[in-house]
Amino acid sequence: MPATTSRRDTRQRRVILELVEHSKAHPTAEEVYRLARKKLPTISLGTVYRNLGLLVEQGSIREVRFDDGVSRFDGHLEQHEHFVCGNCGTVIDLPRALDVKQLTKLASTIGSVTDYKLELTGVCKACGRK
Ligand SMILES: [Zn+2]
Ligand SMILES: [Zn+2]
Repeated sequence: MPATTSRRDTRQRRVILELVEHSKAHPTAEEVYRLARKKLPTISLGTVYRNLGLLVEQGSIREVRFDDGVSRFDGHLEQHEHFVCGNCGTVIDLPRALDVKQLTKLASTIGSVTDYKLELTGVCKACGRK
């Protein structure tokens, strides 16, 4: 951490980290900003962006992107998959069920695998009931 990090910076980062960790909604930076302002009324959107970037760099949270191309933040660090509702945009976590090791082995005849992404899309229960 740079020596210029003030106590205020540390507090802001902690609040942002807690918001993302406790959210199951995979919030966007704007959503984190809205939530953060309830605890830190003077925080700016720029500060939220900067801290989210730092937290991703540190590996404390993950940045995820779905079909809409918007960056969202995920505090759930263990490997998992996502279900995205095409109607309301809700993102729901799913446990990893596929044998990625086997897939990677199969793909090794084609080239070296550096990343893996699986995204399920559909309509969530809340939307299906309407
Ligand atoms: Zn939905
Ligand atoms: Zn997730």
